[in-house]
Amino acid sequence: MSLVQEKLNLLKQNTHNSVNSLLEGTALAAAKKVDAKIENGQEIGLLEGIPFGIKDVYMLQGTYTTASSDLLKKYKAAYTATAIQKLLDAGAIPLVKENCDSFGHGSSSENTIFGAVKNAINPDLVAGGSSGGSAVNVAKDCTIFSIGGDTGGSIRQPAGYNKIYGFKPTYGRISRYGLMAYASSTDCVGPIAKSIEDVRIVLNVMSGKDPRDQTSYVSEAVSTDLKATQIKTVGYYKNFIENNAISTEIQTDFLATLEKIKAKGIAVKALDFFDADILVSTYYTLAMAETASNLSRLDGTNYGARIEGANLKDTYSITRSENFSEETKRRVVGGNQVLSQGFSDEIYLKAQNLRNQISARFTEDFKDVDIVLSPVTPASPPEIGESLQDPLAMYLSDAYTVGFSLGGLPALTIPKGTSTGIQITADKKKDAEVLQFANFLNEIL
Ligand code: GLN
Repeated sequence: MSLVQEKLNLLKQNTHNSVNSLLEGTALAAAKKVDAKIENGQEIGLLEGIPFGIKDVYMLQGTYTTASSDLLKKYKAAYTATAIQKLLDAGAIPLVKENCDSFGHGSSSENTIFGAVKNAINPDLVAGGSSGGSAVNVAKDCTIFSIGGDTGGSIRQPAGYNKIYGFKPTYGRISRYGLMAYASSTDCVGPIAKSIEDVRIVLNVMSGKDPRDQTSYVSEAVSTDLKATQIKTVGYYKNFIENNAISTEIQTDFLATLEKIKAKGIAVKALDFFDADILVSTYYTLAMAETASNLSRLDGTNYGARIEGANLKDTYSITRSENFSEETKRRVVGGNQVLSQGFSDEIYLKAQNLRNQISARFTEDFKDVDIVLSPVTPASPPEIGESLQDPLAMYLSDAYTVGFSLGGLPALTIPKGTSTGIQITADKKKDAEVLQFANFLNEIL
């Protein structure tokens, strides 16, 4: 109870705009039950009584679930997401629905009706996004862990900007049921935490096949034996490092990290890859198409703040024009263009084809290397307000994360190696290897 109360107090005092709504009543009641269990001498589980945060795109029955949007500002979830239910079943206690970019659209957590989230280390800078509130709450010790969502980097990038751990598991390892859909083919549920061990525990609880998400699969738990790393060869993408977009500081630090790995007897191999702008354009083409389709249900009929017009069509159009952000509208318009008759062969199918080529390249690369390392971002976090002026520049800041999303690969940010962290990636379903290598890097960096 005292831990929950302490975290609630911190969340109430916080000035970083990381909180959309607090779940005080239910959290204190749940904490009381855990206290009673302890008093009765009953055994309690690893996560029992542990306070956590939830990005405000997850259904938790009875709570405001806004996606940081005007459209769903008053929407209360009718059911609970599978991943969150598993945490509840393990006794973890949700404290807060966390601020984020609206519908996951963004890389800075400025695209929100609740005010831009401020970076945990320097409040003049952005928190990163879209899971910015979740990353800041963990970094500021307001939650023990938080559950973010990662479609193209939204867990890894804010984890890097706030110097903590953020893991996007293999696509399908955790059920997406109850996560508000952005781009269904890359949407992933994942933990943000202050240690690899916490990432591991939360990952294991949330993983597993769910009949409500046909892309989910049965997986083996990642064991506690995270020391014995079998990694012999590490790869990195040459063109990620040798280009003009990367800051000199991040480039230098990344290369120095590779040297430290080599010094431990691990082979480091430079790999060729698609240019970052191809990865970014392929990702955004598909993500916009998918989000245009997924958000079409939000028309004020079944969900959302309806604004009446002269007729039904008018009602749809006013409801959506008034209640979606500029960024969300940009994506819906772009996505509908991508999918429209006469254009879809030229644009959508071309992007799908590129995606297949990207995946095939990963399969080839992972025959030669066990792990791929990359920076998390090309530059350090911008000041609040700076990047909103230029959406294209914002999209390009996702250069190092979106490719691994298209491949469905597990990828972890650790807060070491460069000022915005290092990203560790392995082949599909090799989530355990990623965490093992992270432990190794922690020892040598
Ligand atoms: N910044 C990326 C985008 O806006 C990724 C967002 C995410 O992973 N939800 O699409």
